[in-house]
Amino acid sequence: MNPAPQPHSEDDPRRRLALEVLQGGGEMGALMRAIDWAKTPIGTVETWPASLRTVLSILLTSEHPMFVWWGKELVQFYNDGYRACLGSTKHPAAMGQRGRECWSEIWDVIAPMIEKVFAGGSTYINDGLLVLDRNGFLEECYFNYAYSPIRDETGAVAGIFVASTETTGRVIGERRLALGRELAIRAALDRNVEGVFRSVEEVLTQASSDLSFALLYELKGNAGDLVSCVGLSRGAPAAPTRVNLDDPSAWPLGSVARSGKEELVESLDIRFGLLTGKAWPEPVTRALVLPLSLGADGETSVILVAGLSPRIRLSDSYRNFIQLLARQIAGSISTTRAFEQEKQRVTELAELDRAKTAFFSNVSHEFRTPLTLILAPVEDALSQKEQSLSGEKLDLVGRNARRLQKLVNTLLDFSRIEAGRTQAIYKPTDLSELTADLASAFRSLVEKSGLTLSVDCPPLPEAVYVDHEMYEKVVLNLLSNAFKFTFKGGIRVSLTLATAEGQVRVKVADTGVGIPEAQLPYLFQRFYRVDGAKGRSYEGSGIGLALVQELAKLHGGAVSVQSKLGEGSCFTVSLP
Ligand code: ADP
Repeated sequence: MNPAPQPHSEDDPRRRLALEVLQGGGEMGALMRAIDWAKTPIGTVETWPASLRTVLSILLTSEHPMFVWWGKELVQFYNDGYRACLGSTKHPAAMGQRGRECWSEIWDVIAPMIEKVFAGGSTYINDGLLVLDRNGFLEECYFNYAYSPIRDETGAVAGIFVASTETTGRVIGERRLALGRELAIRAALDRNVEGVFRSVEEVLTQASSDLSFALLYELKGNAGDLVSCVGLSRGAPAAPTRVNLDDPSAWPLGSVARSGKEELVESLDIRFGLLTGKAWPEPVTRALVLPLSLGADGETSVILVAGLSPRIRLSDSYRNFIQLLARQIAGSISTTRAFEQEKQRVTELAELDRAKTAFFSNVSHEFRTPLTLILAPVEDALSQKEQSLSGEKLDLVGRNARRLQKLVNTLLDFSRIEAGRTQAIYKPTDLSELTADLASAFRSLVEKSGLTLSVDCPPLPEAVYVDHEMYEKVVLNLLSNAFKFTFKGGIRVSLTLATAEGQVRVKVADTGVGIPEAQLPYLFQRFYRVDGAKGRSYEGSGIGLALVQELAKLHGGAVSVQSKLGEGSCFTVSLP
């Protein structure tokens, strides 16, 4: 019980003595003088032994935090320097209070030390953790403190002198500094953003005293994906793997991203049910949601949700620590992203360079063959008196000139599409009829070469919107490839309706040489040709399939291939 301050009259002799004994001491001195000590277990001031008076005179005149317990009931005294250790709820009740009443929450920790001092020993604790209830919650506090016995005139231990310094700020500050350092070291080694997310997880796992949990959400469109998750199970109500930015029942990712400002979310227990961190048993009820601005445009693309420790007051220094952490993570992500982009750019440039070289060597070859075949008969004719061409020679010149023209046209088509200068003209088309017509144009050529051509194009229930010229190019390219790479068996052209996907599928299948599996992923790349493929002619620039793909894409469709070496290939174009 706290002995409430009692007014004394000025001529009261007890009051005079109290004034004499308890001199000076600032605010705490005044408080001590105002207390009616008769109501405490140690009685009125005039009964106090000289040893107590001496100790109090030291305590009251010192600026260093000091505290005294006196008597078996451990009645308490402290000076102005000590006041801050008592927070906002223990003072002023602690003055003259019994020790056990004042320190009930840490009694199990300090009682054995107190006993030891009464037995004549002493203790010194360096940065000792004491979880104090001094600001309305159980708070993580650290102290350097020493307990020494105070002996009375009989030589018996009558009290304990406590010299104590609070080190909470330093202990927690050093812990946070170490965390930042660890994160910097780890993230510096990461070569991709996923690596940074993993490092954040690993490092923050060790930070459970400061962060009850931590989540990183990467924003994509109108949702956020959980990319780092510490202290909660992935997918738990408070850690959904995907959050709609404006879902009012989830973390306020949308509003934080838009405002670029952090938000404090409270009453987490009501929102997500009971949450407890690894470090402390109390429920985690508050979290800070912070935007991580990456790069110069300051746009938020990652958000940190930091579960606050139930044992730390949300002071400026706590907030600063979390903000600094957010900035540090943002910095690591930006640096790694820049590194990744640079790497990708270098790879792309190398790839472009490779493709260009391949293209030039293919294309020169392609131009040279027909040109040689044109020039030879022409020069031959020029050296003759008649200077004329006819028959097979004229035919050869004509064929090769057309071949050259086709090559140039394809290259032009392609570069036009690349430059976005191609305008498709979509017309409702009976695709079954058009496809069958295109296939039939190949019939005599195919059959003359001893191959079969089967066409299976049943009528479709509706017209399909295609650009005729482009569609023709798609089918003719696939058919001429099939012909070029097939020496026995045949070619089959079919049209099917995939009703569920709302697609028409045109398939051109052959029983030709096939394509090695390893090369399939590159087939639709510009200028890509399968090394050593055996075809009817060496003609080709590796651009036909790339053109097919571009044309299919222009139609909102796609092209795919299935093939087995030595058995044949099947190309499928899907159109919406
Ligand atoms: P090209 O002008 O060289 O034919 P494409 O882009 O049309 O260029 O084809 C690229 C490569 O894909 C060809 O060089 C060939 O090796 C392979 N290829 C294409 N179609 C077939 C097919 N039906 N069967 C086997 N290989 C094929």
